[in-house]
Amino acid sequence: MTPRDLIRPRSARIAALAVSAIALSAGSALAGSGGVGSGGSGSTSTSSSDGAFPVRGKHTYGDGLGAGRGHQGQDLLAKCGKPVVAAYPGRIQLNSYQGAAGNYVVVDGKGKLEDTVYMHLRERSPLRKRQRVAAGDVLGRVGDTGRATACHLHFEVWSNPGYYEGGSPMNPEPMLRALDRKH
Ligand SMILES: [Zn+2]
Repeated sequence: MTPRDLIRPRSARIAALAVSAIALSAGSALAGSGGVGSGGSGSTSTSSSDGAFPVRGKHTYGDGLGAGRGHQGQDLLAKCGKPVVAAYPGRIQLNSYQGAAGNYVVVDGKGKLEDTVYMHLRERSPLRKRQRVAAGDVLGRVGDTGRATACHLHFEVWSNPGYYEGGSPMNPEPMLRALDRKH
């Protein structure tokens, strides 16, 4: 039961173009529940011991990198409403909505770490652009906004210099499996 995905390269590219500095006021659902850090702040290493698995709670692996038509990340199936947390520390580069991605967030590793991308969030993340996040900080909730056939997180990791800034999508699965073993 691997749900077909949803995020195609074409649409993800549109997502990047659709970027705007909007909606800083949206998303009250998570206000007050953020900042659940797990001590990852200050880290500059990409070793999995410094990261956090991006979904809290039960999950299964769906489509990976390259599945279907150029899938650019790894799908993690989980119940809608489960917390989505930052896998790596960084700053919020994008907090937006796009037709295929739904509500999505990009965390910029600022050249020290890879950028990480979180799509189909249930509602807009309450985090503000340029806000600093630590690994483990809550970014939003698992949802099925955008082009999604089931509740899941579509997770991407982009090499430096980053998400549609000259980097390219990496295979997040080995990193995810390593982080998964920690808990
Ligand atoms: Zn996906």
